[in-house]
Amino acid sequence: MSEMYELTIEQAAIALRVGAISSVELTQAVLDRLAATEPAVAAFIEPTPEVALAGAAAADARLRAGDAPLLCGIPGALKDLIATRGIQTTAGSQMLKGYRPIYDAHVTQRLIDAGYVLVGKTNLDEFAMGSSTETSSYQTTRNPFCPDCVPGGSSGGSAACVAAGSAFFSLGTDTGGSIRQPASLCGVVGMKPTYGRVSRWGVIAMASSLDQVGPFARTVKDCAAVLECLAGRDERDATSSSRAVPSYREACGRDIAGLKLGVPREYFIDGMEPAVEQSIRAAVAQLEGLGATAVEISLPHTSYALPTYYIIMPCEVSANLARFDGIRYGVPQPGETMWEAYAKTRGAGFGAEVKRRIMLGTYALSAGYHDAYYVRAQKVRTLIKQDFDQAFEQVDAIVCPASPTTAFPFGAKMDDPIQMYLSDVFTLAASLAGLPGLVVPCGFDAASKPIGLQLIAPHWREETLFQVAHAFEQSTSWSQPQNRHRLRVGQGGAQ
Ligand code: GLN
Repeated sequence: MSEMYELTIEQAAIALRVGAISSVELTQAVLDRLAATEPAVAAFIEPTPEVALAGAAAADARLRAGDAPLLCGIPGALKDLIATRGIQTTAGSQMLKGYRPIYDAHVTQRLIDAGYVLVGKTNLDEFAMGSSTETSSYQTTRNPFCPDCVPGGSSGGSAACVAAGSAFFSLGTDTGGSIRQPASLCGVVGMKPTYGRVSRWGVIAMASSLDQVGPFARTVKDCAAVLECLAGRDERDATSSSRAVPSYREACGRDIAGLKLGVPREYFIDGMEPAVEQSIRAAVAQLEGLGATAVEISLPHTSYALPTYYIIMPCEVSANLARFDGIRYGVPQPGETMWEAYAKTRGAGFGAEVKRRIMLGTYALSAGYHDAYYVRAQKVRTLIKQDFDQAFEQVDAIVCPASPTTAFPFGAKMDDPIQMYLSDVFTLAASLAGLPGLVVPCGFDAASKPIGLQLIAPHWREETLFQVAHAFEQSTSWSQPQNRHRLRVGQGGAQ
């Protein structure tokens, strides 16, 4: 029998209901695993064992009373960009060191209502800006499949803890790829919902027209279970949708015979690792074997996604981060004048990548440049969205890589921002178009580093993603439960 921390959410939920285990036992098993793997992985800025055990005891009482929601008593982790009442929320920045929100984010509240157990707040790139979690001002998170390599980013801690077994699921945020790319690099399932599917209220804003919260889990169905808990209208986020939330778990198990899948020509580029391309092509063949039809499609404006994102995102960053002035938020630095105090606070509190983006955005929005950069980028964004609209007239979903490479070594891209930005070439376009995307493990390279398959669906068609990904997962052996032996942490000294 597998260890308790290795169960899926579904298996654990059954074991809790038949009384085979208690949530306190389950939580203790996860906390023990966390203690065994954290020295190597460093996924958490702050583990919360006391909160977890108190939550588990409360969950046990609720389970005994009957009629508890599926996530009741299940240990999960939150990216440290998501507000947790009374629990430090740093955004990976010194600017918010010691900040304890007086409220819970909407998604946190949803999980609390479901009776989940919080095991900790996970590491991330500072203010979610990065693709490797290396811009965190707290610590370096390691990839559990390759401790010399990054876990991806910006939600690197959330991906790594699920891969390592120190949480059953976690939440991340995805602005340009920050759930999908780390899911790919850490060999777990990660999904970014349609923009507006999940409330952003209480999630520290990076680029508001792009940010979405979404789950990481070890299986597709577990991921579906978490999204079901998060999705839906919240009056406090005007962009959240009141569309009914379908049962995403029911979509897992639907036959994919007859579905049409598009393989975009522009997503197979020079510079992508051969092992990645081979795994993606093999995955497409596998899906065809399950009865889907694959057709080549074109998304002609794909190459403009990266420059468009790197105008729109910094513009929104420069506006959103203006509030961190050391007065209302932040760690104040004294100065002779108010302006000097602001400047010193922002100079000391923000790291280099954050400052770079604030400066880029402020420049692009300045009088005289606004039309040439920001307005033009918005027009190109529309063209990118139209590419997808046209493609979805022909196909039910798009199948493509999530990242051009597997996990890369620490430091490999830190001195070259453009190389780092290129990590997201395959995720940015769907973000700009507001589309849902899901990454499911689809192979390993020669060094046993995971490779992820990205699926993209039309707006509000998350069900299609779960349907296709689940069928793929069930017919292959790439998912984490079957590949634990490849983990390089927590194996009694194997790290
Ligand atoms: N890596 C991308 C960036 O640095 C995406 C980040 C994100 O999705 N939060 O902006």
